[in-house]
Amino acid sequence: MSVVLVVEDESAIAELIAINLRHAGFEVIVASDAEAAQRAVDRVLPELVLLDWMLPGQSGVQLARRWRAEARTRELPVIMLTARAEEADKVTGLDAGADDYLTKPFSPKELLARIRAVLRRKAPEALDAAVEVGGLRLDPATRRVTRRVGEDLRDVKVGPTEFRLLHFFMTHPERVHSRAQLLDRVWGDHVFIEERTVDVHVKRLREALAPVQCSGLIETVRGAGYRLTQQLGPFVA
Ligand code: CA
Repeated sequence: MSVVLVVEDESAIAELIAINLRHAGFEVIVASDAEAAQRAVDRVLPELVLLDWMLPGQSGVQLARRWRAEARTRELPVIMLTARAEEADKVTGLDAGADDYLTKPFSPKELLARIRAVLRRKAPEALDAAVEVGGLRLDPATRRVTRRVGEDLRDVKVGPTEFRLLHFFMTHPERVHSRAQLLDRVWGDHVFIEERTVDVHVKRLREALAPVQCSGLIETVRGAGYRLTQQLGPFVA
């Protein structure tokens, strides 16, 4: 389930947004100021943040700037919420790194449409499009992983966590991902799960890929993490 963090100091507005998002199937966390928002983000990286511009203490714009400056939160999708309708303010908000901008009052329908648009742009791996790397194919719609061997399609049996891990690797090939990054992007939390957990699931994934001779796709990069290579050897019968 996608987690949305709502940062809004007016509790009536926060509650209204939360009700609508929960109704649409999102998990909602509400924070009433920048400090609480930062604590929530430190705990669990949400899929998206609705960030009110005017907050007591540190403003939403300052918070968005801070997140953009840090590696862990750089890609965090942010929609700014504001009562200001000035064009200059909109530019400032987008300059601070917001992905979109909504002027109050907005309808629940508009809010949901904007959220879905930002999530689609930011997370192509969340879409149902099948991905293919080096002859290995993963289809999120059917939850099937296959490798073509001649005329045959060989099925790969993977567990749910290994499936998500493989999906992330296949949609971000050739890049080295640290264990902390993988926990953030695949598990959605890097505080309560030990980094060793990643090693366990990578090992299981390699074991699952071994029968179709694809375990070499996932490379260990010493001292850095893991990478999915697009260089896959031919299937040897
Ligand atoms: Ca406010």
